[in-house]
Amino acid sequence: MELWFTEPHCEGAKFSIKVERQLYSGRSEFQRIDVFESREFGRILTLDGLVMLTERDEFIYHEMITHVPMAVHPNVKKVLVIGGGDGGTVRELTRYPAVERIDMVEIDELVVEVCRKYLPRTAGCFDDPRVRLCFEDGLKFVSGKSEEYDLIIVDSTDPVGPGEGLFTREFYGNCCKALREDGIMVNQHESPYYDEDRRNMQRAHRRIVESFPISRVYQAHIPTYPSGHWLFGFASRKYHPVKDLRAEEWNRMGLKTRYYNTRLHAGAFALPTYVEEYLREVE
Ligand code: SAM
Repeated sequence: MELWFTEPHCEGAKFSIKVERQLYSGRSEFQRIDVFESREFGRILTLDGLVMLTERDEFIYHEMITHVPMAVHPNVKKVLVIGGGDGGTVRELTRYPAVERIDMVEIDELVVEVCRKYLPRTAGCFDDPRVRLCFEDGLKFVSGKSEEYDLIIVDSTDPVGPGEGLFTREFYGNCCKALREDGIMVNQHESPYYDEDRRNMQRAHRRIVESFPISRVYQAHIPTYPSGHWLFGFASRKYHPVKDLRAEEWNRMGLKTRYYNTRLHAGAFALPTYVEEYLREVE
């Protein structure tokens, strides 16, 4: 007998992974949480039936959401991660000795508990002494904060269910206020390909453009996300993501990465024409 996990990517297309077994299934106050074991992608975390990460390709997402802003800002000391309960973003951030404090605000404590147990490769750095975990709605956490963070990473689910508030104008405006004058916000920006994802992506972009003077979008190839083509947003009041790239300094640190490098950094902001057009429509 064969067991398959299947996720609809749009009304007319589905994506399936053959699984060996289900390691965990549970429901929190916020969402359904499952962990599967597969030969092709290793362990897989899904929330409400949508793939959040697989052990095989999570490095792409976590390196791109973390190292792109870290290679631009010259002096990141205090970081806020919103969402990110699987720990992959925190893991990448803890590789920087100069980072003094990482606050992670995750709405669902059960996601962290499950990932600590079943996904230790991503969730293995929560005990770093610089990390503070706070289980609260990210929207509420940032409201009222002022000039506190050098970097905010919005590592959220899609804009349905608990993640909805993290795609609002109010939220982006509050993130802008919570950042120091030269702070950077990076967010997972959905996919440009299937219609519903593309609409979410355009809506997020419109709102970020309204909140930050500099707002650019970059891309990565993530095989297990819908269409495999994924976008990230880079927003700041001061730094341009390509002109202000500190390639030499970043390379001097000698961090070993498998997807990110400073040549790819500049290239990731060069988008396909149809994506540029979607973005221009809302700018
Ligand atoms: N890499 C992933 C992706 O794009 O599919 C994101 C993964 S991470 C597991 C997303 C986390 O955001 C989830 O654990 C979820 O509980 C959390 N989350 C959703 N809404 C939130 C909110 N309003 N405040 C804080 N965390 C939230």
